[in-house]
This record gives sequence, C-alpha cells and structure tokens, in this order.
Amino acid sequence: GRASPPLAALSQVLRLERSRRTGIVFPLQKLERYLAPGTDTARFRLFQPGLAALQRAEALFRSDRGHPIDYVSSAVRMDHAPPPGLPEVCFIGRSNVGKSSLIRALFSLAPEVEVRVSKTPGHTKKMNFFKVGKYFTLVDMPGYGYRAPQDFVEMVEAYLQERRNLKRTFLLIDGVVGLQKTDNIAVEMLEEFGIPYVMVLTKIDRASRGVLLKNVLEIQEFVKENTQGCFPQLFLVSSVEFSGVHLLRCFVAHVTGNLPTVEAS
Ligand code: GDP
Repeated sequence: GRASPPLAALSQVLRLERSRRTGIVFPLQKLERYLAPGTDTARFRLFQPGLAALQRAEALFRSDRGHPIDYVSSAVRMDHAPPPGLPEVCFIGRSNVGKSSLIRALFSLAPEVEVRVSKTPGHTKKMNFFKVGKYFTLVDMPGYGYRAPQDFVEMVEAYLQERRNLKRTFLLIDGVVGLQKTDNIAVEMLEEFGIPYVMVLTKIDRASRGVLLKNVLEIQEFVKENTQGCFPQLFLVSSVEFSGVHLLRCFVAHVTGNLPTVEAS
C-alpha cells in the first residue's frame, strides 16, 4: 500500500509545537483570536473532544486484519444500495468542492482503500459505499453543480428520504468561494426532509485568513437564521495539510454511535 501522508496520524501532529498543533486539530479555534471582540464564539466549541477521544476515533479509521476498511459498492439507484445494516454517514457537495480528497484524507490510515473518482463529463454519477469494519458505513454522494441533471436530484432525494440508517449528512462547502447559490439545492433538500446535517468548509489552506473569516462568519449567520437541522458548529478542513481531519474523524465516530462519550479537551 501507499505510505500515509505526514500528519495523517495524531502521533505525528502531537510532535508539532502547540500553536501549529491547535491549527491542525482545531482549525476553527485557531481563527478565534482574529475575530472582533464580542463575536459569539460559543458555536466554535460545541464539539471539542480531548486527546483520548481523538485517539479512539483514529483507531476506527486505521485498518488492520481484524478491522478491514473497504470500498463496498456503487449504486445509481436505491435498490442497488447495500442493505442498511450499520449506522451511516454521507458526504455531499458541489463538484470540485474537495469531496474525494477529504474522503481520501479520512481514510489515509487505510491506504488500501480506493476512493474512486468519476469525473468524465456525461459519465453516470454514482453513490459509493465504504464499510468501516463492523462499525459504520460512509457514502460518497455524486457531486452537484450548475447543470446537475434531474437524475442526480432524484438519486440524492431518494437516498436522503429512504435511508433509515443515515445518522448525519456532511455538506461540503468550498472554503475559498464560500456558500454558493447551488449549495441551496442541498440545504433546501436537507431542511425539507428534516435530515440532521453539518457543514464542512474545505480547502482552508487555500483561503487567506480574511476570506476564511468572512466565509466562516457568513455561514455561521446563515445556519443560525435559515436552518433547523444543521449542527451549529462549522467544521474546517484541509485535505492537504490535514487540518480538521482528526476532528472530523472524531465527529463521524461520535454521530455513528461509536464514541458515545466525548470528554471535552
Ligand atoms: P470533488 O470533485 O469534490 O471530489 O473534488 P476533489 O477532491 O477532486 O478536489 C478538487 C480539486 O481541489 C483538486 O484539484 C484537488 O487537488 C483540490 N483540493 C481538494 N481538497 C483540497 C485541499 O484541502 N486543499 C487544496 N489546496 N486543494 C484541494
């Protein structure tokens, strides 16, 4: 298998000096000091696990012989989806938002996992199912965009409505460009069906601090004013630098019921 990239494991992150480590593990917290005094940051720390919880989550994402992590199958229709046996999370977002990169980063300690990408225009977009041992499944949903074909909307709608083992949907937003009109397709669908979801801001290494702050505050405001089902804490990630990836693994472990108690850091 491939070698894991640097900082893919917590043990590597722990060797960094404190401020850099905070930036990798809690990227949102790192931004706090640049906010105007009086800015409400209570929502920055709703999910803030300690090291022990982060380590237990990491163990779930590390494959070995007794704990295989595998691509299971792809499906274009719900009747082709694997049986809903385990708690499930799904990842959804515009094409190019960084979804496959993020899933690859999450699974970087299981280098045998192939995260497939089908980017050929006109190529049928599929839901890809991954199984993490006997603990949970993760679904890579097809990306949407300006010309999202009707069959895409139907596929995602059917999935969101019917999948009874779905515990949480992760809606990816590009950290450089922020919330776009097309993202509302997904937000409206999730709100309409009353599906619990959480927003993840991607590619944060590519956004300047000013842009990142603007996007974070805008999205936080949007979530507060316009949503019911969205978790109020935004997750920030960079699949290149591994920022936020450890925290996201921990949140996935938690929402799938595999880390019931998360002691705060
Ligand atoms: P998808 O269409 O949502 O699966 O997007 P990809 O994961 O293929 O990413 C789209 C483009 O953004 C690719 O060129 C990636 O290399 C780039 N990208 C994805 N994630 C990151 C990130 O965290 N940082 C940076 N700098 N680039 C990223």
